[in-house]
Amino acid sequence: MSFRFSLHGTDDGARRGQFETPHGVVQTPAFMPVGTQGAVKAALHRDVAEAGADIILGNTYHLFLRPGDELIARRGGLHRFIGWPHPVLTDSGGYQVFSLAARCVIREDGADFQSHLDGARHVLTPERAVDIQARLGSDIAMVLDECLAYPTTREDAAASMERSVRWARRCRERLAVLRSAAPPEVTVSNAGQAQFGIVQGGAFQDLRNESADATVDIGFEGYAIGGLSVGEPTGEMYAITGDTAARLPANQPRYLMGAGTPQDLVECVARGIDMFDCVMPTRNARNGQLFTSEGRINIKNARYAEDDRPLDPACACYTCRSHSRAYLRHLYLSGEMTAGALNTLHNLTFYLDTMRQIRDAIAFRTFETFRQGFLRSASRLSLDS
Ligand SMILES: [Zn+2]
Repeated sequence: MSFRFSLHGTDDGARRGQFETPHGVVQTPAFMPVGTQGAVKAALHRDVAEAGADIILGNTYHLFLRPGDELIARRGGLHRFIGWPHPVLTDSGGYQVFSLAARCVIREDGADFQSHLDGARHVLTPERAVDIQARLGSDIAMVLDECLAYPTTREDAAASMERSVRWARRCRERLAVLRSAAPPEVTVSNAGQAQFGIVQGGAFQDLRNESADATVDIGFEGYAIGGLSVGEPTGEMYAITGDTAARLPANQPRYLMGAGTPQDLVECVARGIDMFDCVMPTRNARNGQLFTSEGRINIKNARYAEDDRPLDPACACYTCRSHSRAYLRHLYLSGEMTAGALNTLHNLTFYLDTMRQIRDAIAFRTFETFRQGFLRSASRLSLDS
């Protein structure tokens, strides 16, 4: 196995570490930009790497439907196909099946769904999710889990969590088969692929505990907390994250799926999280919503029409070094594709810079000071709201 996590140090609950993968080392806490279709929207891989991303996320559902995991395996796997030589994590496809696909029916066997592209019927079983990710050859694969909407009854959350545990066990067993003797129909593109389990249980901490214990009992290279950031109050999300993280092994990475705002990153690092992914920096960028060290900016706003200042005077990205708010507003209102590219580069840089500052603060054991300062500046101004 070539996946190895090392914890370098802690500062209260915050953890500074790294993990090694077959495609390189990832410093933690880490933020993973989302590269849904094998590309971070509106950003070149070169710029994503230069902005400080050690790892990106690819979406199994999208890549499975188009261009197809078998085609990607024939191209030598995802890294080769997309020209990103650094680490990649893939999700299981479950989240998109439940949220995007038409007519999704969940059975014990797996999820039966129709492609949102052409209506074709597919069945995503735990084993199939493992096989698809093996062909993609990501460095970290995720188990198939059931994602429930919020809010949900305790009964539904319990049944769903228990099914997710059964699916996780099937995923682990399938990976063991692929590691020892893969059948000819499954090309394993990355022999050193790690697999993470996912803790579910909705907003019920006792179910979360049960899920965490059962998932750790199966045994994975790392553990994710899923099913949060789905509409629950922020305070509840933080509380569940903290209590669940505390229940996971200290010597393995912890990944909070789908979070969040810059404040969420800081608050959840404080609660022991090592990895994050979120579409927020890239999606918001394309909508003209920009994160800065002085608060959020909506670049459409008329107040920027003749504002010659950089977007964020504290940011060293190409966008902030080269262009004014007035120009960025003009590009956005003109519908220029460049607006999406420049805004995305800035928002990604802001997120990745924040992670770098977090890592430095933990290393110097000044994380609490950093956290207080960050939350003050983040709450001081939501400039345009
Ligand atoms: Zn910038």
